[in-house]
Amino acid sequence: MTQPQQDLQDTIAVSDYRQDFPLLQQEVNGHPLVYLDSAASAQQPASVMDAVAQYERTDHANVHRGVHSLSHRATDAYEQARDKLRAFINAESRSEIVLTSGTTESINLVAQSYCRPRIGSGDRILITHLEHHSNIVPWQLVCEQTGAELLVAPMDSRGQLVLEKLYELMTDKVKILAIGHVSNALGTIHPLREIIARAHALGIPVLVDGAQGVPHMAIDVQDLDCDFYAFSGHKMFGPTGTGVLYARECLLETMPPYQGGGDMILEVSFEGTTYNDLPYKFEAGTPNIAGVIGMGAAVDYLQSVGLANIAEHEQQLLDYMTRRLTEIDGIRLIGTAANKASIQSFMLDDIHSHDLGTILDHQGVAIRTGHHCAMPVMDYFGIPGTARASLALYNNADDVDRLVDALEQAKKLFA
Ligand code: PLP
Repeated sequence: MTQPQQDLQDTIAVSDYRQDFPLLQQEVNGHPLVYLDSAASAQQPASVMDAVAQYERTDHANVHRGVHSLSHRATDAYEQARDKLRAFINAESRSEIVLTSGTTESINLVAQSYCRPRIGSGDRILITHLEHHSNIVPWQLVCEQTGAELLVAPMDSRGQLVLEKLYELMTDKVKILAIGHVSNALGTIHPLREIIARAHALGIPVLVDGAQGVPHMAIDVQDLDCDFYAFSGHKMFGPTGTGVLYARECLLETMPPYQGGGDMILEVSFEGTTYNDLPYKFEAGTPNIAGVIGMGAAVDYLQSVGLANIAEHEQQLLDYMTRRLTEIDGIRLIGTAANKASIQSFMLDDIHSHDLGTILDHQGVAIRTGHHCAMPVMDYFGIPGTARASLALYNNADDVDRLVDALEQAKKLFA
């Protein structure tokens, strides 16, 4: 097997955090597992699993409604997770942390509850060419419902937003800008602070799809000055079916509930209903209590490692992976932006990405293949899909070397 270069030996050859993740300690198809699919769903540290298991074993009860001890304990643990999430993204108030099932629900909530009531024919919604389907389709639905128009800011051949074009599209007809923090297909990091400042100068509110931002860098929503920030628990080492919508309190106050049901009310009669305070007005029904407690434990874990340490490790590893991939004859890197996080898409010769993924799996290397829920990005490059390797804090240079070796094997098979 190829050895990582000496200068990288001390930094990225070993990940100190790997042993925290039980799932990674296994063989797949007779080889030690190399997991390079964290952009789709990251693995969980034992501390997250333990927090969920402890709640299920000793504290399980429904939240908010009970007077008995278990319900109090469940409610405390659930609400503590909200407090951790508030601090994690530096929101001003816990009222601004709406707990959802994930990024997708968070964006749909904003589309239906914020955007739909205040938009009509002649108005515009602005997105970019690099969005995940979760940040495209909810806006298309609102356009169908209201007669508004969807505008798409273009990207260039490296997978970077063409900023001048984006700014040209920002007019007083645009009622919201919805933009990813990091492209899940290409890894491009957008210059959000500059973009948000430009949008705000024209009175355009901004929603950030932070699904791929939160796991890789420290997020400060007040510093970004965004109006909405959506993310998922399972991309940041937490359980699936959990997520957050951060929204400015003054905006949430003006928004009607997204769904009706238990917990989002103060009083119900057949004559009418009074809604609960923020953020509960947007949390109808029994939530994913265990999952949210697990997401709180994921925040603890991320903070114990330090987002700056994570970003540095992943950046060095991404540079190493890019360099190693470039050395392979017949490789075509898709997405070569100057500012990137943890993701590299590629194609190898004319091998179909699904074939590549299957061959790599036989060698214990898990990557993602296909359109990555970003079909317009694939259309731009005129391809049906890519192979995508995505990194997290538990990956190391050995993983990259195993990926490169497996790709070399694939080349031989198709030669
Ligand atoms: N946005 C981006 C950029 C993503 O990468 C994803 C998931 O891959 C989503 C949104 C949707 O996240 P979820 O399926 O957790 O709601």
